[in-house]
Amino acid sequence: MHLQDELKFEQIFIQQLHDKSLDDFAIKLDVLRLDKIHPVVSGNKWFKLKYWLRHAIEKNYTNIATFGGAFSNHIIATAYACNKHNLNCTGFIRGEEPERYSQTLKDAKALNMQLNFLSRTKYAGKQNVIQNNTGLFFIPEGGYGNLGAKGASEILQLVPNVSAYDYIICAVGTGTMLAGITNASLPHQQLIGISVMKNNIDLENEISFLLNAEASNRIKILHDYHFGGYAKYNNQLIDFMNSVWLKHKLPLDFVYNAKTLFAVYDLVAKGDFGKNKKLLFIHSGGLQGNSSLQKNTLLYS
Ligand SMILES: *Cc1c(COP(=O)(O)O)cnc(C)c1O
Repeated sequence: MHLQDELKFEQIFIQQLHDKSLDDFAIKLDVLRLDKIHPVVSGNKWFKLKYWLRHAIEKNYTNIATFGGAFSNHIIATAYACNKHNLNCTGFIRGEEPERYSQTLKDAKALNMQLNFLSRTKYAGKQNVIQNNTGLFFIPEGGYGNLGAKGASEILQLVPNVSAYDYIICAVGTGTMLAGITNASLPHQQLIGISVMKNNIDLENEISFLLNAEASNRIKILHDYHFGGYAKYNNQLIDFMNSVWLKHKLPLDFVYNAKTLFAVYDLVAKGDFGKNKKLLFIHSGGLQGNSSLQKNTLLYS
């Protein structure tokens, strides 16, 4: 079954995108295809979980727990990672138990995650859940924290000749991945994060806790590319995803990477990168999230 497949780090590669709109500004745009690691557990979540799980195992925990929504990449990645490490795991899921499970929940269950549904009110009071379950090791939602950032900092080790890039761009949810990548980047590099949430005003502050001091002035977060908010989309975004697929055979998820790559092209066209620059876009995976879209919305998946 494909859910149980091993992670295939050797399948990660750098894809160069060729477009007239890039040539006009002499921009080279490379994509780190983290999505190739695994069909379901693709992308950054594995990296963010690595040191959280190591920490839990060192502390002799055998029961892991975390939080997330019904389509969460973090939930499925946690289910997978715990399964591989023979750890029990519980997913506290936002919202009442649905009559029909999402593909994400079905997959998480198939990986032996115990699903525990919380009303939105209870979910908002997560702290109580943590306090009432002292035997469980809780990984913060999205893997946020220094241990998550430490794992994400290893992403850049997959990039050959990483010093050649002027800009590194990635999607931002909690900002843990961006913080890790920033910490591992070089002093001449600029980092750009595209926030996929609307008005996430605390984000810069939360990221600052995870950053090495030196790196903090090389980072910029843009808040204008959320397309209406987290997991919201419109026809413009779907058309963009389909055109990127037709032109480059590059599949994107609508929650994170489509918005981020859209932003990259927009910023290039506005001249924000200037000319003659080399850009690295981190494709952080998340393709399983497209299963929440209606069939035939995308030309792929
Ligand atoms: C979770 C996720 C992100 C955001 O990562 P953060 O570290 O929370 O900012 C980006 N892309 C994908 C595909 C994700 O699943």
